[in-house]
Order: sequence, then C-alpha cells, then structure tokens
Amino acid sequence: MPRILCVTAHPDDEAAAFGGSLRLYHERGAEIYVVCLTAGQAGSHRGLAKTDHELAAIRRKEFAASCEILGIDRGVVLDYADGQLHRVDLYKVVGDLIQHIREFRPDVMLTFGPEGGVTGHTDHSMASVFATMAYQWAGRENRYADQLLDGVTAHRTRKLYYATGNFVLAGRPPVSPPPITTVIEIGDFVKTKIAAFETHTTQAPVFPLVRDTILSSGPEEYFHLAATTEPGSAARETDLFAGLSAKD
Ligand SMILES: [Zn+2]
Repeated sequence: MPRILCVTAHPDDEAAAFGGSLRLYHERGAEIYVVCLTAGQAGSHRGLAKTDHELAAIRRKEFAASCEILGIDRGVVLDYADGQLHRVDLYKVVGDLIQHIREFRPDVMLTFGPEGGVTGHTDHSMASVFATMAYQWAGRENRYADQLLDGVTAHRTRKLYYATGNFVLAGRPPVSPPPITTVIEIGDFVKTKIAAFETHTTQAPVFPLVRDTILSSGPEEYFHLAATTEPGSAARETDLFAGLSAKD
C-alpha cells in the first residue's frame, strides 16, 4: 500500500491546503498520515475557549473529526508553540519528524512551500523548512543516528511536494509561490474538503472566505515537486505517485 505523510502547522491546514488530495488518495488505497506541529492554541478565532489550553483541546478534537472525513488513517497533533515555530529548536523538531518518517516510511511527503502558502503564515513556512530537512536527512544513517535502534532504519522518501496555487490572495502581503509541477483533479472531493474544514468550528468566522477561496480555485489542487530520489528535469504530472510504481 503506498504511503503519504503530510506535515502541517495547524489543525485545519490538513483540510484547507491538502484535503482534496488526501481524500482522493485514500480512495485510491493509499495509507495517509498527517503530522500537525501545533494545536493551534494561539488562533485569533477561539470559539468558546476561555484559555489557550481549552482552545488546544477543542482544536485537537476538530482535527480528529476532519481526519475522519478525509480518510486519514493516522493523524497526530504535536505540542509545539503555535505562532512561534520560527523560534523553536530546529534540531529537535526535525528529529521528531525524522522519527515519524523512519517509522511510517512514506513514499511521498506533502507540506507547505517556504513562502508559507497563500496566507504566508510563518508557521507554514517553518513547517516547510522542518519537513524539508527531515525529508533530506531521514535517509542518511549519519543523521540522528541515535534513533537507529530496535529495528528502526534510515528511510528515503521518494518524493517531496509543496502545496502551491495558481493565485495569490488580494489585499495581503505578497507571497511568491513555488511553480506548479503537479495538478491533482480532486473532482467532488472539493465538497469533502470544505466539509472537513467546517469541522473546525472554532474557525467559523473564516468559513465563508475559505469556502469561496476553495470553490474559486475549482476541483484541482496544485503541488510543486520540490525533491525526488530520481535526479532529472521536472515533468508536468497529474499523479503524486507518477514514475514510482515501475520501481516498487
Ligand atoms: Zn495554518
């Protein structure tokens, strides 16, 4: 069974940025794992939560409900500081992600681009940096060698993709998105993606904006092939597993 690991920053990113593709590849039989680095406790939309701790607990439940709708096999929310990922210890976060990679052993990884997606959120940018280094280092036995015990071995993931888009949000500080290499037709899963986003009820004030943004970009999600184990020119792709099956 092919495996996809998706690294996000906040509960709701799994739906808004990757939801259609995650559900599509679930339907195609892939095993899907999402690692979310923060519980979103610094969010400006807080529902009925009175404290950061309460908001984190609510958002963890919302994330679990969204994972259910998207067909995500395993979803974990780590405990890094929301809004502060640019200030956390890179060596530690990357090591955590490498441990997940070496245990789950994905074929393909998904994350944001270093621009931080259409919102340019610093946490999205840092998720990209951490996931990229973890992708590159998980396959090297001389990196985080202390993890290589009890049957855990180094693992090279075949491809790394950044979510990207064919538009920028008007009225926002500029972002420079990675070029599109890969177009995934998500069809009706655009509705599933919106439904998954709307399980994040603490984020209700942004539902209309997110729904309009998702619907205006149509039944497609866009990715940038950022790294691959097969050196060469980037080709236009319509499948995250393109070029992999022949070797598996
Ligand atoms: Zn986010």
